[in-house]
Amino acid sequence: MAQIGFEAYTRDMHLRFACQPGCTRCCEVYGFVYITEDDLRRIAAYLGLTAKAFEKKYVVRYKRLLRLRKPRKAQCHFLIEGGCSVHPVKPVQCRLYPFWPELVEQRANWEAERRMCPGIGKGELIQIGEACEIAAEMKTAYSGIYDKR
Ligand code: SF4
Ligand code: SF4
Repeated sequence: MAQIGFEAYTRDMHLRFACQPGCTRCCEVYGFVYITEDDLRRIAAYLGLTAKAFEKKYVVRYKRLLRLRKPRKAQCHFLIEGGCSVHPVKPVQCRLYPFWPELVEQRANWEAERRMCPGIGKGELIQIGEACEIAAEMKTAYSGIYDKR
């Protein structure tokens, strides 16, 4: 992974973000939703399933990673009309987006992500240090991904 790009923020040490009502774009773009063991247990309980039953139906397990299976013609089983059907317990990466290390640590990546997320550039100012602290949870939650970078 590239070095933390604080130097890229010296002229403008803040970000703006506010999730836009009714938008579900980040749930519809191509990609995988990685989950933690804790996400697995919480989502299973929310759906009234055992962790084992939830994993069998919805999860692909790798050596150091878990991800949600995808339905045939969509990106996520849990996206329904109006939004995320597991919103109160949604996976870490969904809860933290767009405060992901690869976005908040490099201004160019954050700016480029505006094309995907209409909430970027809107809302209250967020200091870059605070954004990086939020993003740090991603590195802890998905060490199987971030430790390799
Ligand atoms: S794309 Fe951005 S604005 Fe839209 S739902 Fe996702 S986080 Fe919110
Ligand atoms: S779990 Fe919810 S927030 Fe995450 S991609 Fe699926 S529908 Fe979107």
